[in-house]
Amino acid sequence: MDALLRTDPEIHGLIEAEERFQAESLRLIPSENYVSRAVLEATGSILTNKYSEGYPGRRYYEGQRNIDPLESLVAERAKALFGAEHANVQPYSGSPANLAVYFALLKPGEKIMGLSLPHGGHLSHGWGVSATGVLWQSAPYGVDPVTKRIDYDAVRELARRERPQIIVAGATAYPRLFDFAAFGEIAREVGAYFLADIAHIAGLVVAGVHPSPLPHADVVTTTTHKTLRGPRGAMILCRGDLGERIDKAVFPGLQGGPHNHTTAAIGVALREAATPEFAAYGRQIVENARALAGEMLARGYDVVSGGTDNHLILIDMTNRGLTGKKAARALDRAGIVVNANTVPFDPRKPFSPSGIRLGTPAITSRGIGVGEMPRIAAWIDEVIRAADDPAVQQRVAAEVAEFCRAFPAPGLALRV
Ligand SMILES: *Cc1c(COP(=O)(O)O)cnc(C)c1O
Repeated sequence: MDALLRTDPEIHGLIEAEERFQAESLRLIPSENYVSRAVLEATGSILTNKYSEGYPGRRYYEGQRNIDPLESLVAERAKALFGAEHANVQPYSGSPANLAVYFALLKPGEKIMGLSLPHGGHLSHGWGVSATGVLWQSAPYGVDPVTKRIDYDAVRELARRERPQIIVAGATAYPRLFDFAAFGEIAREVGAYFLADIAHIAGLVVAGVHPSPLPHADVVTTTTHKTLRGPRGAMILCRGDLGERIDKAVFPGLQGGPHNHTTAAIGVALREAATPEFAAYGRQIVENARALAGEMLARGYDVVSGGTDNHLILIDMTNRGLTGKKAARALDRAGIVVNANTVPFDPRKPFSPSGIRLGTPAITSRGIGVGEMPRIAAWIDEVIRAADDPAVQQRVAAEVAEFCRAFPAPGLALRV
């Protein structure tokens, strides 16, 4: 980054500090990852210079000789990888992708039925403070109070009563598998569209460790930067007959020119995701999460739903006598990065909830395996017990940095 250093040492310094932090910390936020150098190169390419409103062969700007084949190639890769009839690779991120789906398929004031935010759903599934909850009505479903899992009979009953126009399956903090076939059946029964939002689990779907929402869903949205290990962006996959409506909703409905550098980097990530190495990566993410959940259970932690089927673990801190926020802050000072999170039926407020959320996608990208999970769990436990002790946090941070040296992260230029 020589040019950046010469032009803007201030920004350069902050990026370099962040790179060091990403190298020397254990990043356990389940929506984060490390992209490859190839993905970074495409993201940082000259494609950022080009405007191309419209779609391949139907643009509002000239000079698309390279952009048209690029976008077509990436859309074809997306269709092939997920087995979809149509793909739109232009959404700027996951939330705008979901907004585009509602804009395409619903009239204002119609009803969205998604997993409630405090039970693990996403803001963009109709939650009140989101535009999706202002422009449309919302009838959220929750998880079962005892099992903390989705009760499909309860979802069916609610759908029959509420008659939503779209049912959304997807989550940011649900550690169990989604039964997409069941959601598809319920949606068909009540005449609703079925949207599967696989932002968190797209990489697991590709790897075959989570059932695919296709062909059960009418539309599938996904971010590209979580388990899929691509740049920040999103895609919409759908039935062929809905393609035109979805495309029109993305552009000109909601967006202007696509971010071609991001499109290219999504293409690179899709190519990487089509390899046997990526399937092994997806399997390892889940094995690591299971092992880490087991280690935390063994240390007396209240793992929500008793474990995990995917890449993430939700832990209720109530029985440890501290809040999720306090636990997350202490862990951050010790070089272990997690986020505070609501747990289902949380009596506390979202900004200071009862739980923490951990995930294994990023550490698995570094080659960290099941054998290392007891050590990671022991550090987490030690720091949480010493949440008021900066000396313990400092010592663990040094140990974590030393440990990280043995597992160089993909994409980072820095070798610590
Ligand atoms: C992350 C996420 C999104 C939103 O993605 P952004 O790119 O942050 O807008 C949408 N839905 C689900 C389920 C997510 O986990």
